[in-house]
Amino acid sequence: PSDQNKKHLAAFELLTKFYHYLLTTAKYGSVGMAYLEKRAFSQEIIERFQIGYAVNSWNAASSLLQRRHVDLSQMAKLGLVASRGFDQKYFDKYRNRIIFPIFNLRGKAIAFAGRTLGDEKPKYLNTPESPIFHKGDILYGYHLARPEIRKRNQVVLLEGYVDVIRAHQFGITWSVASMGTSLTEKQASILKRSAETIVVCYDSDSAGIEAAFRAAGMLSGGSNLIRIARMPEGLDPDDYMIKFGGEQFKSDVIGASQTLMSFKMDYFRRKRNLSDEGDRLLYIEDVLREVSMLKQAVARDHYLRLLADEFSISLDALKVQAKQLQKQLQ
Ligand code: ATP
Ligand code: MN
Ligand code: MN
Ligand code: MN
Repeated sequence: PSDQNKKHLAAFELLTKFYHYLLTTAKYGSVGMAYLEKRAFSQEIIERFQIGYAVNSWNAASSLLQRRHVDLSQMAKLGLVASRGFDQKYFDKYRNRIIFPIFNLRGKAIAFAGRTLGDEKPKYLNTPESPIFHKGDILYGYHLARPEIRKRNQVVLLEGYVDVIRAHQFGITWSVASMGTSLTEKQASILKRSAETIVVCYDSDSAGIEAAFRAAGMLSGGSNLIRIARMPEGLDPDDYMIKFGGEQFKSDVIGASQTLMSFKMDYFRRKRNLSDEGDRLLYIEDVLREVSMLKQAVARDHYLRLLADEFSISLDALKVQAKQLQKQLQ
């Protein structure tokens, strides 16, 4: 890394330790600790993810940085401090927020996500893109998850920081997060290279379901097995595990995840009213279009049979129509 990148990494390392110290040791950190305890974060998981707390102060971090002779104008570029207009004095950007350091593959902190303790906006305040941090290139938790991902040849993709932390707390240590619902091409390519099976488990709200669909599309087409996990309406993986525990998450969510095609069939079904004949035909077309895009003849045959059984229609007729669609696509 360049000299400047080294300085940036050093600043994140210093502040990661500082915020973690404030959370775990300092008297002023008890507000943050109370929040994390209320959300059932264990001490051990707070250590593993180096979680911290920025106290409710305008200068806790900036005066530390100043004492260490760190160039504050650089820290302003990293989004850690900002300068007041009228006298150019620097103040802390992170105040009264839980600090989730975001790590690179080597486990070095390269950014922060700061969560409010209440429902102020924005819920998460991220440090901006910088030469050491490109958000779209990072999967949260990957540095910790990598060994288990390798061992299982499976990776579980979640949406949020807390989802990953909770999953790891409950032993599901092969989980990572895209940090929001828009998976990037770079994140998709890291996932595809990291394991054969990719289980997408986004929040069970309409945004999450739509996003899971998009993510699955980006991940498929290669040699990976893509599965999509669903949870009861409205829950995210963290909510689910708090409610039902990690074992049930493993068996009933990851274990019961669907293939991409059966997820798509459910997805199309929800968009149509299957008691209506016209809608039923449209649904069959939706599915045939997907089936005709499958590379493997065995898989195509399998889903055509499912469809034929579902609506008691002739398998031959479906095959003819799928062939036609396939030709159109070529
Ligand atoms: P919590 O359980 O603490 O409410 P969450 O992870 O469930 O957190 P969501 O609102 O579901 O929060 O958002 C999912 C993820 O999307 C977050 O973990 C974060 O990575 C990203 N995200 C959400 N809101 C923001 C924001 N305002 N700025 C940056 N990233 C955000
Ligand atoms: Mn510690
Ligand atoms: Mn969520
Ligand atoms: Mn949540």
